[in-house]
Amino acid sequence: MSSLRECPSCALEFEDTGDVTECPYCGYEFPQRTASVRWVAWLLALLLLWPAIKGLMYLFG
Ligand SMILES: [Zn+2]
Repeated sequence: MSSLRECPSCALEFEDTGDVTECPYCGYEFPQRTASVRWVAWLLALLLLWPAIKGLMYLFG
């Protein structure tokens, strides 16, 4: 499962193996994938912290 992908920064094509986060030629970081990874990290953190948040709300609310 690999396809050619064009870098939006230097316009060179490279093989996208699925876990490519930056251009192998110019080092440009692809914003969409990074943003989605950040969102997943935030959601996971929120889920892990949710009991603590509820506890704090109980204490201060
Ligand atoms: Zn590039």
